[in-house]
Amino acid sequence: MSDEPVRLPLVLAEPKGRKKPPPHLADLDAEERKARLVELGLPGFRAKQLSTHYFARLVDDPAEMTDLPAAQREELVAALLPDLMTPLRTLEADKGTTRKTLWRLFDGALVESVLMRYPGRVTMCVSSQAGCGMACPFCATGQGGLQRNMSTAEIVEQVVAGSRALARDEVAGGPGRVSNVVFMGMGEPLANYKAVIGAVRRLTDPAPDGLGMSARGITVSTVGLVPRIRQLADEGIPVTLALSLHAPDDELRNELVPINTRFSVAETVEAAWHYAQTTKRRVSIEYAMMRGINDQAWRADLLGDVLTSYGDWGWVHVNLIPLNPTPGSKWTASDPADEREFVRRLEAKGVPTTVRDTRGREIDGACGQLAAAPDGA
Ligand code: SAH
Repeated sequence: MSDEPVRLPLVLAEPKGRKKPPPHLADLDAEERKARLVELGLPGFRAKQLSTHYFARLVDDPAEMTDLPAAQREELVAALLPDLMTPLRTLEADKGTTRKTLWRLFDGALVESVLMRYPGRVTMCVSSQAGCGMACPFCATGQGGLQRNMSTAEIVEQVVAGSRALARDEVAGGPGRVSNVVFMGMGEPLANYKAVIGAVRRLTDPAPDGLGMSARGITVSTVGLVPRIRQLADEGIPVTLALSLHAPDDELRNELVPINTRFSVAETVEAAWHYAQTTKRRVSIEYAMMRGINDQAWRADLLGDVLTSYGDWGWVHVNLIPLNPTPGSKWTASDPADEREFVRRLEAKGVPTTVRDTRGREIDGACGQLAAAPDGA
């Protein structure tokens, strides 16, 4: 089961002949880091010191790595801590508690991450691919296609950069740390499975091998690549799964989430239910409310029926996302009255339902708006 190939549409194939991002210690586990140094003729025990700088001290300036011999420092840093990405712009909203960063990767690809501070927690929304091949018509990222998969270290670096900014008191609200990570930035995380799992491991590995976060604070959001959901259930890392359903019927979902033509609503929801059963983690169903498209009362009833057909043991909850209209899109957010009725009907069927607060709208940092236009176009 674990290596079952996912037959993905051609648009998902990565362009051939591209160079890979430079290898970085966050791509490797503790043993592999040591081995890499030894391979380069450097002392293996330095790997732990480099890891401590990166994951525990959040240092990025080699001059501060004073426990490394000056003569070897450059070589060690080049071997395991190469620069992976450059911040091009940071935009703030919500009095500085929401910060979106536009990054340029080594090959010029652009991605975005968003830091959101709430009372008592800080969530980083990270990208897992430059662009996305899933082509959901209401999502800004979906319009440009896939450029490439990100490496494990490129994913991790977004979180480390957020942690650094917090540790250095650069974010409104005082010093702090990242408590939650959501794979809800650019890209389809389960279409870049290996790198994403690597990133989850680095986030959860205890310091100094990783950031030492709790898996419970990590959410992987997916369009529903069924074999990958099953594989994720078997990893033994109880991350929260979010399934972007957006419609309870195949006819509409085929249009809103085109991968549905490959994996039907029934198959996809079944995989999510199996995930909840295996991991004992409650699955989150994402549903972007689009006026006159998917927000009818009958669809709320149908969604409730689809979800409760697997029992009402609390395996699932629904997270309604007010649609963030993207430029040129024909869709708009639902009428608040329709949204309230949708919530009421789901709850009447016993499905816990919340409406997501949309942070960072004015900096195009809200769900589905991450399109990485460097000039804000
Ligand atoms: N590929 C993953 C992660 C994408 S972004 C996935 O599809 O789950 C995270 C969430 O934002 C998804 O539920 C996605 O459908 C939603 N989203 C995308 N565009 C949106 C928009 N314009 N308004 C509201 N939500 C949107």
